[in-house]
Amino acid sequence: MTTGGELRTTILDARGAAPEQVLFGLWNEELGEALEGFGLLRYRVRQLETALYRQKVADIAEVTTWPKELRERVAAAGFRVGLPEIVETFRSVDGTERYLIAGRDGQTVETVWMPEGDGGESGDGADDASDAKAWSRATICVSSQIGCAVNCQFCLTAKLGIIRNLSAGEIAGQVAAVLKRQGAEPGRDRINLVFMGMGEPFLNYDAFMGAVRLLAGPMEIPESRMTVSTSGIVPGILRFAQEKVRPKLAISLNAPNDVVREGIMPITRKWSIAEVMEAVRQVPLRQKERVTFEYVLLGGVNDKLEHADEVVKLVRRAQFPAKVNLIAWNPGPGVPFTMPSAEDVARFQERLREQGVPAFVRRPRGRDIYAACGQLKKTGSSQ
Ligand code: SAH
Ligand code: SF4
Repeated sequence: MTTGGELRTTILDARGAAPEQVLFGLWNEELGEALEGFGLLRYRVRQLETALYRQKVADIAEVTTWPKELRERVAAAGFRVGLPEIVETFRSVDGTERYLIAGRDGQTVETVWMPEGDGGESGDGADDASDAKAWSRATICVSSQIGCAVNCQFCLTAKLGIIRNLSAGEIAGQVAAVLKRQGAEPGRDRINLVFMGMGEPFLNYDAFMGAVRLLAGPMEIPESRMTVSTSGIVPGILRFAQEKVRPKLAISLNAPNDVVREGIMPITRKWSIAEVMEAVRQVPLRQKERVTFEYVLLGGVNDKLEHADEVVKLVRRAQFPAKVNLIAWNPGPGVPFTMPSAEDVARFQERLREQGVPAFVRRPRGRDIYAACGQLKKTGSSQ
């Protein structure tokens, strides 16, 4: 399978001379096709894939499994690696790091590194590793678009509107850049991915799934360690239901009923909670897999005990295995909500649990550097 032809980005170099072609993002047949003119044997293409996606080389000159002469010929023909570069890093007191990563047009993308989670993986078996490193597992939160068109009222990213889609190479490239910086290796290290950064993955479906295939393929991150979150884009969920290789699914429920949800997520007018549930029912779940309902608790809006009771009913009616991830709202400038009290969060969780609904409270990570859920909006010195 390939990652989509749009990746064969041609860029004029600074002198406007030789056209450059970016290799990162291409693999398998696409990589072979791009390099067709060099008469490479299959194993040479494989060596390049290993260099690009396992070693994460920044330059063709570093592909040392290739003869020097071949590296030089390919570079001279205008090819370059194009591994996305981290241009700025913000480090939180809790170890979380937020990065601005340069996209192909110089626009920056946001990516978050969370040593020890918390991408909401509690309760899905991903949280029981231990070894002697500073972190024994980590979660990378990946963006799928620059900005977002969905306009959820509580989310800072919504304020940007949609700027553009990211390509599959740019989505997977965020992961490569962060793994390289951290010296982390999937296979040896327990790396989880959450597609919960900027943007709505199901409104950039092909590039998002292209990235998943690249990540699960030559980057060797099992799809069972990936979770995608959607605000409830029904056609996207229905396509997702057909995929053989796919992440786990999380739905941003955020409200106990359509009335409350419409007030905070206008997308509800397009697809009601019932329609979203019906679409999710079409997704064939793997053994022990559960669908996650994310629920952002907004002080005074959706955090009352009667709301919890309604959520219990929704989850029961869903007829698929599910858990609820509660997220206390993270504040952002110009976003008119209040944080729920710690007691309200705990009482809400308890109310779900006592009625048999598995419920977890997600620890906010990196709030001080605007890295927490819903806080990604190119905040920082390069704004
Ligand atoms: N666009 C996708 C994925 C990115 S948002 C989606 O909405 O599902 C990831 C999660 O962060 C969503 O569940 C969203 O509801 C939540 N979120 C958004 N803004 C938030 C905020 N200010 N505080 C806490 N969670 C927030
Ligand atoms: Fe977009 Fe998700 Fe933010 Fe809604 S919560 S505006 S879907 S990024």
